[in-house]
Formats: sequence, C-alpha cells, structure tokens
Amino acid sequence: MAAAFPFSAIIGQDEMKLAILVAAVDPSLGGVLVLGERGTGKSTAVRGLAALLPQMRVVADCRYGCDPSSTDELCAECRKRTAKGVLKTRLAPVPVIDLALGATEDRVVGALDLERALAHGEKAFEPGLLARAHRGFLYVDEVNLLEDHLVDLLLDVAASGENVVEREGLSVRHPARFVLVGSGNPEEGDLRPQLLDRFGLSVEVTITTPQDLPTRVEAVHRRDASTVILPASSRLGRQRNTGFVGV
Ligand SMILES: [Zn+2]
Repeated sequence: MAAAFPFSAIIGQDEMKLAILVAAVDPSLGGVLVLGERGTGKSTAVRGLAALLPQMRVVADCRYGCDPSSTDELCAECRKRTAKGVLKTRLAPVPVIDLALGATEDRVVGALDLERALAHGEKAFEPGLLARAHRGFLYVDEVNLLEDHLVDLLLDVAASGENVVEREGLSVRHPARFVLVGSGNPEEGDLRPQLLDRFGLSVEVTITTPQDLPTRVEAVHRRDASTVILPASSRLGRQRNTGFVGV
C-alpha cells in the first residue's frame, strides 16, 4: 500500500484540517463531514490523519481491539479472559479504516470464516471493517452515494456502539465505536437526514488555488517529495499522493 501524503504537508484547507484534528482530540463531538468537489484534498487529509495519532492500548490477542481499561465494554472473548485473570495488553495504532462504496455487507459487519468452515468444519467469525475501526475512524468517501442498507447498518452500530451479527448460524456481538468521517460532493447526491445527524462537524471545502508564487512552488516541492518515496512510483501511487490543494 502506498504511503499516505503527510497531513501536515497539505497546503490550505485549514477549516477541514481543524475539523479533523478536533474530532481526533475529542471523538465525543461526533463525526466529521467534509463536503466539496473532487480534487480538494478531502481523502488525502483523512488518510494522512493515521500517522498523527498516538498509539492506544488494546487487549493482546483480541480481534476487536478491546480497551483493557473499559471493562464494561469488552467482547465476549475478553470477558472470558478477565475471568481467568489479568488481561495482557499491547500498544496498537489507532485505526483509520476505509469503507469503500462497493463493500459488501459481509465485509462491513463480518461473516462466517469460510476457510475455517471448509477446512476444519468450525463455525468461526471473520471480523469485518466495523471491528477493525473500533476505537478509531471509519472513513467513507462519497458517503452520500452509500447504499441504503449500508447506511442503515452504520446508523444502528453508530447509535449502539455494538455490532451484532446473527446469521449463517453465527451469533456474535462485539463493541464497535468509531468516529465516522464522510466526504462527498453534494452535487452528486443528498445525504439522508438521519445520517447527517451522525456528524457533529461539517465543513465545506472549495478548490482554492494559492495565488502567491512561493506557496505554489512549495506545494510542488511537497508533492515531488512524497512521490519520490513511493515504492515503484506507480501511476496510481502518484495519484494517491497528489493530495495537496490547488496546483
Ligand atoms: Zn475483546
């Protein structure tokens, strides 16, 4: 995977950067919605956030990233572990997980682990994106185009802080608390009011071209610096990393 363009190297879009940082400092404010046209650096800013965040302590071996200090919000596996003694912990990066528009429900909520089912005849749960996003950020680019059934699902989980999967003979529930970060172009579709309510902060971004020459030159330097470090400098990689604004 290509390295993200550094958050602090993005030129301009101060309001958007402030909103993302505020949500990172105090997730209880609710998610962040960034509205604007393509090419305004929205996705780049969100993906660049991961590198800024300090590590968090999680229960070692927990597939859901449970917080060892919040004993009333542990998954069933960690509750069993606590009954046996003190929880082992480790440090892990705060997750920033991408939920792509074409993601299936299985991928989002988790599903039966088919490999284990076929190889060992065991019914095991393969956690999905909601499990990976626990205690971190769930990023939906073009959130206004997300399919209705996924929106319903996100609303349920965001309200309860828990993902409940009851199907294929599985019965699993695990904590799933995350800051929802959405971006989209309002001209391409409206956001459902219930989903809009999940965002505590909303920012509109526009394509702002820096007018002064030194700023423009600096933007080009930063883009070049980021593309040079990419493995193989693929065309895709270059596109992913040209996330600064306005040149
Ligand atoms: Zn756990």
